[in-house]
Amino acid sequence: MDRTSGLDRAHEHAVGWLASLDGRPVPPRADTEEVLARLGRDLQDGPIPPADVVDELAAACEPGLTAMPSGRFFGFVIGGTHPAALAVDWLVSSWDQNTGLRMLTPAHTAVEEVTEAWVVDLLGLPAGSAVGFVTGGTMANFTCLAAARDDVLRRAGWDVAERGLAGSPGVRVLVGAERHDTIDLALRYLGLGAPEPVAADDQGRIEPAALAAALDAGDGRPTIVCLQAGNVHSGAFDPFEEAVAAAHDAGAWVHVDGAFGLFAGASPRRRHLVAGAEQADSWATDAHKTLNVPYDCGLAIVRDRAALRAAMGMHGDYLILSEAGEPLDKVPEISRRGRAFPVWAVLRSLGRDGVADLVDGFCDHAAAFAEGIAAIEGAEVLNDVVFTQVCTAFGDDDRTRGVVDAMLAEGTAWTTGSRWHGRAVLRVSVSNWSTTVDDVAASLAALRRASGQ
Ligand SMILES: *Cc1c(COP(=O)(O)O)cnc(C)c1O
Repeated sequence: MDRTSGLDRAHEHAVGWLASLDGRPVPPRADTEEVLARLGRDLQDGPIPPADVVDELAAACEPGLTAMPSGRFFGFVIGGTHPAALAVDWLVSSWDQNTGLRMLTPAHTAVEEVTEAWVVDLLGLPAGSAVGFVTGGTMANFTCLAAARDDVLRRAGWDVAERGLAGSPGVRVLVGAERHDTIDLALRYLGLGAPEPVAADDQGRIEPAALAAALDAGDGRPTIVCLQAGNVHSGAFDPFEEAVAAAHDAGAWVHVDGAFGLFAGASPRRRHLVAGAEQADSWATDAHKTLNVPYDCGLAIVRDRAALRAAMGMHGDYLILSEAGEPLDKVPEISRRGRAFPVWAVLRSLGRDGVADLVDGFCDHAAAFAEGIAAIEGAEVLNDVVFTQVCTAFGDDDRTRGVVDAMLAEGTAWTTGSRWHGRAVLRVSVSNWSTTVDDVAASLAALRRASGQ
């Protein structure tokens, strides 16, 4: 069989899909049941040529696809895919490199090394920090918090790799009341149980005084403090200078969940939002959100390379530090795809200024949304729009939910319904490189119609 027999068809469907984005409704037109009916459930006995398989799948799935790469998709916090990253992602599958070992894939190891240094530099983090290329923000939090857990216990004289957690001094984990749920999930995976929430202010930022009080109550027990760069509802950033200093005074490891917000550090205009975050010990971010590479790509960044390797490496030993190390020592997986290739591609294509412009563009569009929504009668913007998130209500909960439903039914743009501070909200999240001023205007017009004006 010809190795490339399906690729031309895949290319054609991909180009057709991308060309359809401007004109098609953003929500899917078929639900799961309809796609199941189109697919059929029986696996036949004989072979089907790859090109026909590609055609069949594309035809069955097309109506069930959401136009997430559209410039009018403002749901959840989901980025688009930059063209350089998309093109290189095709190479990733074609090259099919298993990227765990240096000797096995020198190309990816080299690209990962360059990309690691670029990312750390762009985000304003300490030079020499290690970056593990994982599947997403959840696993980036997990990976960083594994390094944190082992390190604070090591400092208390307890080797987790050797002895496990049973019988250990235990770890206190302090989190802001509005941390992302995936912090709790990561802590569960790590056997650390539920964290202790610390009060947050009206924008969801951790209260430094409450954090200081909670730290004081710890009596020197091993402690991790999780801060946040980018609250999913408000986009707010924790007050890092004060919070990190207080945590470090108490001997805690400080982790920052910056799944989408850490990239504020790449923009001279927004850098002030993350001031002080660089003093932390670890940072989780997504490349598949603000940086616009395809799923699945998160970045687990740890200042102490040895601590990351001790937690994730095959040997679990803090002392194997001097050698160059293997790529698999920085991530939970052994086998994984070449995730650094698309990240390298988007950074190379945009350059420093382009990344700053990308971030600033999202923020400017968010500000335009806030202004446009505030001008709709009965609508209010509930957050200080400092970054990419706009959280709004259109009167009481029923009315707001009605607007969310009307937006989905109409299909011009996708906005998300959520709850924040006990209220139904409609949230707009801007994180796609292709969003234009016209997309924002068309989406605002749709919001006006959906709200009955
Ligand atoms: C999206 C998000 C996560 C989870 O990231 P995934 O890539 O979806 O696993 C964690 N924290 C914050 C603040 C997020 O926005």
